[in-house]
Amino acid sequence: MPLRVNIRHLEDCEIRLKGELPVAELAFDLRDELIRAEKPLHYDLGLGNLHDAVLVQGRLRMVLSCECARCLQPFECELVLNEWALHLPLSGEDKVSVENDSIDLTPFVREDMLLEFPQHPLCKPNCAGLKKKSGVHKSDDKREREQKPSAWTELDKLKL
Ligand SMILES: [Zn+2]
Repeated sequence: MPLRVNIRHLEDCEIRLKGELPVAELAFDLRDELIRAEKPLHYDLGLGNLHDAVLVQGRLRMVLSCECARCLQPFECELVLNEWALHLPLSGEDKVSVENDSIDLTPFVREDMLLEFPQHPLCKPNCAGLKKKSGVHKSDDKREREQKPSAWTELDKLKL
């Protein structure tokens, strides 16, 4: 079932929607092999009627199965939109499409969630990558450290 809301129910009261949206409904178009969306999206939303528009506010959360772009370790990446808000006009140029008195929120959820997907999934922000590579970095650091004292020695010579 997609995430739909019946606007007739919103006429005189607010609605709380809480549940899971199967990932099949979201049908993310993923080109990145490092990211897989397999688990359902959890939503906890409050909906209200505001000046001929529907206002949606709440929380979206889902967990992605990723593979680190540097060390290739699988890891889970949690995406949370704590203060997700959506303003859906019921009239005017930008009015939202209403079918059988209901609005499908699924495309909006899909679009905003997709923006949160990592561009370059990393198991941790400072992942050093495969062990071989981190070894190379260390020797680079060492060379830098060795160069510094010699530069100071040159400066000292100038002072004298
Ligand atoms: Zn990693």
